[in-house]
Amino acid sequence: MTEQTSKRFANKKILITGASQGIGEDAAMHFATEGAQVAINGRHADKLKPLLEKLPKPVSGNHLIVAGDMSVEEDVDRVMKETIEGFNGLDVLICNAGMQIECPSEDISLKDFNMVMAVNVTGVVLCARAALKYWRSNDLTGNIIVNSSVHQQIPKPHYLGYSASKGAVGNIVRTLALEYARYDIRVNAVAPGAIVTPINDAWTKDPAKYEATAKHIPMRRPGKCSEISDAMAFLASSESSYITGQTLFVDGGLTLYADFEQNWSS
Ligand code: NAD
Repeated sequence: MTEQTSKRFANKKILITGASQGIGEDAAMHFATEGAQVAINGRHADKLKPLLEKLPKPVSGNHLIVAGDMSVEEDVDRVMKETIEGFNGLDVLICNAGMQIECPSEDISLKDFNMVMAVNVTGVVLCARAALKYWRSNDLTGNIIVNSSVHQQIPKPHYLGYSASKGAVGNIVRTLALEYARYDIRVNAVAPGAIVTPINDAWTKDPAKYEATAKHIPMRRPGKCSEISDAMAFLASSESSYITGQTLFVDGGLTLYADFEQNWSS
């Protein structure tokens, strides 16, 4: 989280899925620091309690823990209901929960492929459906932000489910944005590059592997969670009030065809 002094999200009610660690946890701290009420989701309530205790108090109201598995329809519907009833409203939905499974594509099991799609795609659709239903039936505006990935655009060998899921997220965002733009409901994505989070411990905590990874990134370093939270906050704020259907790549230049940094083709 970067140093925040403004309270620009005072009285805003924000649900963040997958907030027990990594980018989701940082985003919860960011929005709470800027005055919002945040509902933090993860599969297990006990893993969310330490974060709830750390969160700065919102300008009004309280924060919530809304535990549930975002790949399970009944859980998503209950989590959305608990959030909307607990807050008496919802301004911003942040679909951050995500996972990946590594495997050569010829060996991929249908169970693993379906699991990745269920969390990264179906979970987004189910959360968005409930939020849109609430906003439309109450004639409210709204804002959805999905955490995608550079692998929305860049292929990811050995991660077929992840690659397929983030590709799908890009078109889910564009389709929903077009369908709901007339109601002032905005839908955008952030697409992180390599970010220092627990899922990347294998290389971020090993100096040699860190060096090797950083060389692939035009800015020569991985990103910080706070740099993703800053982009989410921009998309959640009125500063982006005319932006919808976009994916904001926050990747230190990773999507710029880094191999062309030196001219080798002419
Ligand atoms: P992480 O593994 O640290 O956090 C993922 C969070 O999602 C955790 O809190 C986990 O408990 C939660 N989660 C997973 N499955 C869930 C489910 N079924 N229901 C509810 N919660 C669930 O990962 P992260 O790096 O913070 O990733 C967050 C998002 O950012 C993901 O969507 C990921 O694809 C995306 N992303 C991360 C990176 C990176 O380098 N870290 C890069 C690109 C995109």
